[in-house]
Amino acid sequence: MKKHRGIVWFRQDLRLHDNEALTDALKCVEEVIPIYIFDERVFRGETRFNFARTGKYRAKFIIESVEDLRRNLRRHGSELLVRVGKPEEILFDLAREAKSSWVFCNRERTLDEIRVQDALERKLWSIGQEVRFSRGKMLYYTQDLPFPVTHTPDIFTSFRKEVEKIVPVRKPLPVPEDFGRYTMEVEPGDMPVLLDFGLEDFVPDERAVIQFTGGETAGLRRLHYYIWESEQILHYKETRDSLLGGDFSSKFSAWLSQGCLSPKMIYHEIKRFESERKSNKSTYWLFFELLWRDFFRLMGKKHENNIFLKGGTKQQVNPDLTDNYDLLNLWIEGRTGLPFIDANMRELAYTGYMSNRGRQNVASFLVKDLGVNWQMGAAYFESLLIDYDPCSNYGNWNYIAGVGSDPREDRYFNILSQAKRYDPKGAYIKHWLPELQAVSETKIHQPDTLTEAEQYASKVMIGADYPKAMIDPARWG
Ligand SMILES: Cc1cc2nc3c(=O)[nH]c(=O)nc-3n(C[C@H](O)[C@H](O)[C@H](O)COP(=O)(O)OP(=O)(O)OC[C@H]3O[C@@H](n4cnc5c(N)ncnc54)[C@H](O)[C@@H]3O)c2cc1C
Repeated sequence: MKKHRGIVWFRQDLRLHDNEALTDALKCVEEVIPIYIFDERVFRGETRFNFARTGKYRAKFIIESVEDLRRNLRRHGSELLVRVGKPEEILFDLAREAKSSWVFCNRERTLDEIRVQDALERKLWSIGQEVRFSRGKMLYYTQDLPFPVTHTPDIFTSFRKEVEKIVPVRKPLPVPEDFGRYTMEVEPGDMPVLLDFGLEDFVPDERAVIQFTGGETAGLRRLHYYIWESEQILHYKETRDSLLGGDFSSKFSAWLSQGCLSPKMIYHEIKRFESERKSNKSTYWLFFELLWRDFFRLMGKKHENNIFLKGGTKQQVNPDLTDNYDLLNLWIEGRTGLPFIDANMRELAYTGYMSNRGRQNVASFLVKDLGVNWQMGAAYFESLLIDYDPCSNYGNWNYIAGVGSDPREDRYFNILSQAKRYDPKGAYIKHWLPELQAVSETKIHQPDTLTEAEQYASKVMIGADYPKAMIDPARWG
């Protein structure tokens, strides 16, 4: 028999489709009370190294996502309560007032989130209620994997080979048809604005590769556009390392990170496209990249807090990496004098997004060329990225810093050859560094080799309008 009431606590699962916690709640209780809480520690707090924990780009995206969720719930005759504060306290008070039986939510697996859900669980026990955990972050269910989480292979290729051919990706759950009744007489709560979190409002930069709009509605629209409408998926493998334009890669990451899109939904759309229209190496490759996401989440589960520590999952601290704020700040501000690095860092600062190729290069440069503690770069990314995801971010930084699961011990990016390969004419550099607009293609990657006459002709004074390279590019041969 169904119980009277239950609370659905939305977290990084801001969607109605394939939402296990919501589906479970609707099965178990007659009345569901949906709520989202802007955790003040997440939206007003700081990361290690003093960056805002949630920068303005992601905060805006999340606000839009919650607004969209509220609209969609209201369309189904339900509601979304919105609060700002500490989830464990707000949910406890609500559970007591509503006389609910359970708080339903999708389980999180990283330290800060675990602390909150554990604190809530303990509080609820004191009033005879419980948290009911569901899952749904990954393509795979851990119980379907051929190994226990603690035995997940540390090498991506081994992981992939063990899963991709044999483990089925379950079908996404449909949007529920019946949202039950809603009689709770409490204030729904106003949507916060950026200023409430001490963040400035802003006009999105027109140069951005894409204008991300938060929410399930926009996420599903993007999914439909990328796969069915434009069929860009057919070119994914060839274009994914590009830097300019909205469609060189899927841009699903921001919606995935807040759970506006379910990875299972993406997978089954790819499969449907393959059977109804066409299958090629690109359609496979998008699935391949989603496997990386699952892999890093499993690394987070297996190695727990180590992914955040300086020694990474390998637990080997590199003593040569220092907390050098001067070098870090030049990197952050895009003033290293290496145009490819600076263009990427400015794109991140102005938009909250950077391509995967860019992320790999700037991370490698910070750690391997500048010798800066990788955790500082990761914390800056955590603050800025619109698609920040703890496991994907820290997992990738572990990997590039050589303290993760990369089988190649000495992975090192030759920035100059990467720049010439992925931005041969310097179009991307010029897009983000207007001061180099008139520099010739031959010198765009090394503007400090411009002669005085060339500087004059290109309207840029090296050392004044654009900095000298802080690393001698000769090291890259
Ligand atoms: C230093 C560093 C930090 C990163 N931090 C994040 C992060 O915080 N959040 C995040 O989602 N991705 C992160 N990535 C991975 C990757 O750069 C982004 O997922 C990708 O650029 C997002 O653009 P897209 O959605 O168009 O990707 P696509 O190329 O279209 O890929 C499709 C999806 O596959 C997944 N994916 C692709 N590559 C990776 C990868 N290397 N690791 C994990 N998942 C991947 C993402 O969910 C992505 O949306 C990071 C990579 C590096 C090198």
